[in-house]
Amino acid sequence: MGKKGKEAARERREQRRREVTHLRTVPYEPHQRWWDHLERAPARAVAVVTGANRGIGFEAARQLALHGLHVVVASRDAERGQAAAERIRTEAPGDAGVSVEWRQLDVADAASVEAFAAWAAQTHGGIHVLVNNAGVNFSKGADNSVEFAEQVVETNYYGTKRMIDAMIPLMKPSPFGGRIVNVSSRLGRVNGRRNRIGDVSLRDWLLNDDCLSEQLIDEMLVKFLEQVKQGTWSSNQWPQMYTDYSVSKLAVNAYTRLMARRLSDPSEGEKIYINCFCPGWVKTEMTGWEGNISAEEGADTGVWLALLPQEQATNGKFFAERREISF
Ligand code: NDP
Repeated sequence: MGKKGKEAARERREQRRREVTHLRTVPYEPHQRWWDHLERAPARAVAVVTGANRGIGFEAARQLALHGLHVVVASRDAERGQAAAERIRTEAPGDAGVSVEWRQLDVADAASVEAFAAWAAQTHGGIHVLVNNAGVNFSKGADNSVEFAEQVVETNYYGTKRMIDAMIPLMKPSPFGGRIVNVSSRLGRVNGRRNRIGDVSLRDWLLNDDCLSEQLIDEMLVKFLEQVKQGTWSSNQWPQMYTDYSVSKLAVNAYTRLMARRLSDPSEGEKIYINCFCPGWVKTEMTGWEGNISAEEGADTGVWLALLPQEQATNGKFFAERREISF
């Protein structure tokens, strides 16, 4: 892209940023606030946000709590998680009446996810919203290290998948549908302009609903991790930027589409909507506080997806700045 093209793209981004900033000031109409109209106990809809002790997850938790949901701030470290929950409570305006609690959760640990699910079932009888935000990326700036590829894939993809699989049976039946939102990245696009898988057949299979399967995603990840172990991976074959991270988010996107298809035909009152979004380039610890937007702005599309009024609820799509984008 030339200088003029870059300038135009930057101006479009800024324009959309202004539009979304305005949209965020528009209050939901009482009839749109599905979370205020639950027929069964508990009185408040229950939202779980993973990795909610800081960054985008913290902001998603804070915004959901301010909208009136009961929020479970899930984090792997007790002290950091409890401090985050306390901060949401103390920083909320006096009349906001926020309801927040902390719970331990390491998405990379199957036993921790199992214990979390058992606790959610016992304490709340289930949940209404799940925001899969927990994630790691060890490359910064121009780096592209795959040294921690296994941890990246385990946390970002298998952690998200583990939570989806554990929480789907706990999504409370409601006429408004359960909501699952996966925090992903444009870096995980199958056909990203500057960042994509070299193997054309794999790209086609991943985008074809008839070929997409858990096995296809697993095989792709096993192949990638094997090549990393053997030192034979190359950025011609795999996404060129933040390769391990991009592969993990590509898998998250593919699993979102796969689950959306599986969940597309439930009986009335048991619908679950699952979507993913890219928060943009956000000033958080993950980016070394670089980026061009705040965590508050980065969390917006995820919160918007979780709260979409029933008539606008959507399934199996990828979003950024409150607009659908391509996989
Ligand atoms: P941060 O590094 O600030 O936050 C990541 C969060 O994930 C932390 O709370 C961290 O907890 C938690 N986490 C990491 N591993 C685990 C685990 N195994 N179990 C539970 N929690 C875990 O990053 P961001 O807020 O920027 O990132 C949030 C999400 O947004 C990620 O999924 C990221 O990939 C995505 N994203 C971010 C972008 C950006 O520009 N920042 C761009 C695109 C996507 P702890 O404090 O214990 O480490």
